[in-house]
Amino acid sequence: MAQLVPVHCARCAHDVTPVAVWPGFLWARRDWYGGLVLLAVLAPVIMSEITVLMPLAILFGLAAGPVHALAAQRATCSECGAELSSATARSH
Ligand SMILES: [Zn+2]
Repeated sequence: MAQLVPVHCARCAHDVTPVAVWPGFLWARRDWYGGLVLLAVLAPVIMSEITVLMPLAILFGLAAGPVHALAAQRATCSECGAELSSATARSH
């Protein structure tokens, strides 16, 4: 894991160590899009079986909100919890 460089926090008015977003959330968002493509390819199979596969496909679609919300998080100040600028948001 990359070492986090100190970032200036406007609220604390000094340099702080940022709390980085877990990179797995970005991977989860990418995997969700991959799953969406797979869902589109398998649509004829899913449409033919509406008792199990169709509700699972709907649940997968509903997961878009949480997955994208978690992936959109930005790095925060380790002292006050304020969001830091997007230029310093990622640790990788
Ligand atoms: Zn702060």
